[in-house]
Formats: sequence, structure tokens, C-alpha cells
Amino acid sequence: MNNKRRIINIISNRNFESRKTSMELKEKLIKRGFIVRERFDKRAELNICVGGDGSFLRAVHRNKFPTIPFVGINTGHLGFFQEILPENMDEFINKYINKEYIVEELFLVSAEVCTKDKCYYLTGINEIVVKGSKSKVIHIDVSIDGNHLEHFCGDGMIISTPSGSTAYNFSVGGSIIYPTLNTLQLAPLAPISSKAYRSLLNSIVVPGDCVISLKLENRYSNSTLIVNDGVELRYDNIDHINFKISDKKIYRLVLDKNMYWNNLRSKFL
Ligand code: NAD
Repeated sequence: MNNKRRIINIISNRNFESRKTSMELKEKLIKRGFIVRERFDKRAELNICVGGDGSFLRAVHRNKFPTIPFVGINTGHLGFFQEILPENMDEFINKYINKEYIVEELFLVSAEVCTKDKCYYLTGINEIVVKGSKSKVIHIDVSIDGNHLEHFCGDGMIISTPSGSTAYNFSVGGSIIYPTLNTLQLAPLAPISSKAYRSLLNSIVVPGDCVISLKLENRYSNSTLIVNDGVELRYDNIDHINFKISDKKIYRLVLDKNMYWNNLRSKFL
């Protein structure tokens, strides 16, 4: 293949360390014959995201879930999506040129947020959260594939993807799900369990072809917040929200198959 025609996008956050790393990376890639774009170019073969996990999430959302694979250079705290350390840039470039990697597909969660008037569609990488907007308890009827499961009462619910299972979901006691498994996880946020209200205290992992429906009690339809990968969204008169695995997918370069387990150990243990 003619290297001169190979385009790589570098998508960096604005902090000093990331910009410095991006400049170095750009120089190195140009020396190896790549064309480097510092804005998203849809003709590129690879997106290199420089920053922390939050930068990766924003890069995917801003560029509308491109199918061009991502790889991350981590200039933030321990990064789950950001596999490469800046000091290992040369090793990464060599491995990339020698095709010493696999491309992993990541499952995404989609939400259909139906208000009294219309439905809105969202896609999340880590999770979509439904919670009370005014620190109030909310009441939600939870159904899975049309089967009513429970009347939930508490702070809210997190619906996470496998790759998001190590993020917010993990902090509320949800399970860690290996990123390539086709599942969604529903984790309760501070569920009230009393004689008056009873709901599951643990998270539930459902197969990817299930639809999770959350129907809000009328009085909460204007005091409910949807948080998509950390971004708050408000809708008037929400009636119900349906979640499923999205038809969209994103792709990630994996250069070291042990990285996931090393990350788990160093982040959580
Ligand atoms: P951020 O970039 O500061 O991320 C917050 C923390 O979540 C960081 O430590 C980051 O490394 C970690 N993180 C993000 N995705 C992860 C993943 N898939 N696996 C393991 N750790 C992950 O803040 P942001 O830009 O607002 O990021 C949004 C994400 O923050 C949300 O998607 C949510 O999962 C997470 N979050 C976590 C909590 C919590 O753990 N209590 C609360 C709110 C949001």
C-alpha cells in the first residue's frame, strides 16, 4: 500500500500535555509517510485520540460514532479506552505499521426517549442514566421485553454497555462485563427497599436483543434528567424510555490483549 495516501486523524483535548503529545505524534507519523489531520477527516483509516477517557467519549460523540477505528494515547488518569502511554508512541507506530493489533467492536446503548409529543433518539458509549433532576426520589416501572419486573423507587437507574461497566456502573456496585459481550446492564442508583417499596438491589445483565423499558410516573415526567456519557439532557413530559443495544458500533484498536486485565488490576485493586 502507498503510505503517502494513508490519512490519520489526531483528535486531542486542549490541555498542555495532550497538545505536546499530539505535536510529537504528528511529526513521527509524517516522518513515516502518513498524512495527519488535526480535525476529523472521514477518509482517514484511524482516529488517534489524545487525552483521558472523557476525551475519547467526547471525540466519539462529536464525530457522530464514526466506523473508523479509534486508538487512544492516555494523557489523563488511568484510561480504560486510552491504551497507549505517550512514552510508548514509537512502539505503537511500529506495531500499527506492522499490523500487530486487532480491531475490537464496542457495543453501544441506544435510548428512545418518548415524551407526550415525540420520541428522541440517543446513543451512549458508557451508559445512559435516568435520574431525578432535583435530588428527589423518582418512581419508575421497569419492564424487560414487555414483562413488568418491578416498581423502582430511588435515585435512578444506569443502563450501561459492557465497556461502560467499569465506569459509573462499577461505582454503584454493578458487575464488570468483558467489552465484547453483547449485553446491557441495568443498575439501580440508591434503591429504596422498605415495607412500602421493594425493588432489586443488584444490577441485572440482559442479552443484547432485549428491550429495557422505563416508564416514569406522571409526576416525575418533568423532573427527570437523562445523562448520556456524562452529558445532562432535559426533556419535557417524558413518558417512557426504551433501551436496547444500538445498531451502531464503534471500533477500537487493541495492541495488547492483556491490557484490559492489567487496567482492571491497576485501577481497582
Ligand atoms: P471524566 O473523564 O473525569 O471521567 C470520570 C472517571 O470515569 C475517570 O476516572 C475516567 O477514567 C472514568 N471512566 C470513564 N469511562 C470509563 C470506563 N469505560 N471504564 C472505566 N473508567 C472510566 O469525566 P467525564 O468526561 O464526565 O466522563 C463521563 C463518565 O464519567 C461517564 O460516562 C460515567 O461513566 C463516569 N462517571 C462516573 C461516576 C462515578 O463513578 N461515580 C459518576 C459520574 C460519571
